[in-house]
Amino acid sequence: MRLRELTPEEKKVIVEKGTELPFTGHLLMNKEAGTYTCKRCGAPLFPSDAKFESGSGWPSFDDALPGAVAQTPDPDGQRTEISCKRCGAHLGHVFKGEGFTPKSARFCVNSVSMDFVAAPLLKKAWFAGGCFWGVEYYFDQLDGVLGAVSGYMGGSLDNPNYQQVRTGRTGHAETVEVTYDASKVSYETLARLFFEIHDPTQVDGQGPDLGTQYRSEVFYTDPTERTILENLTSQLKAKGLKVATHLTDAQGKKFYPAEDYHQDYYDHKGQQPSCHFKVKRF
Ligand SMILES: [Zn+2]
Repeated sequence: MRLRELTPEEKKVIVEKGTELPFTGHLLMNKEAGTYTCKRCGAPLFPSDAKFESGSGWPSFDDALPGAVAQTPDPDGQRTEISCKRCGAHLGHVFKGEGFTPKSARFCVNSVSMDFVAAPLLKKAWFAGGCFWGVEYYFDQLDGVLGAVSGYMGGSLDNPNYQQVRTGRTGHAETVEVTYDASKVSYETLARLFFEIHDPTQVDGQGPDLGTQYRSEVFYTDPTERTILENLTSQLKAKGLKVATHLTDAQGKKFYPAEDYHQDYYDHKGQQPSCHFKVKRF
């Protein structure tokens, strides 16, 4: 997780839990399709189809993305504060039972706490390169990446847990799901980073971590991405590397987020990854 530098005005709301003046926010009237993200850490927070006109003067949503927003009783004893689950940034308050929409919730959010990414530009990519803690760490550092999540992909069992995947018998690879803004960072940049933060020549393992769950694999979504991956692996092969990375169509493959204690592992420890480091290969 990387936090953006805030302006004094943003700080007043996001850190000091202030409230922007009603009818002033830049996202109040926005009706575009896309995703509202945390101004400070970039985490996706609200889908545009949850936005509705409440007349309050602040952007209003009747739902948040799963697990994205924390709700805590306000010190005023009346209201419920909402904040970014990932970085704790203050967003606003949630009001229930007003009946504006069938969900009957109004997440009342300061515009200044959010950014907006238009729908066609918000994309996902999946990379498996050994222990997901390190892979997640490096993708989180990259400009244009809104979030990287550790999880499991490419196996046969539904809703696998860590204990099952670590046996190597479920077929899943420890995989990182990267959500990115394609107007800021390209798929090729992501793929290059992937090949430089793990050893793509190791078969069914990464460093001391051995087993198919630690294999090198990329799950692509379309032929363009596949071509980019093939070009990069050809470049590495031309340099004498015996690339063992599997290139797999993501169609029909489901990504399962790992347990909470695997997320942002190195950030929580305040450590640099010991399982992965960056090597210049291109
Ligand atoms: Zn945040």
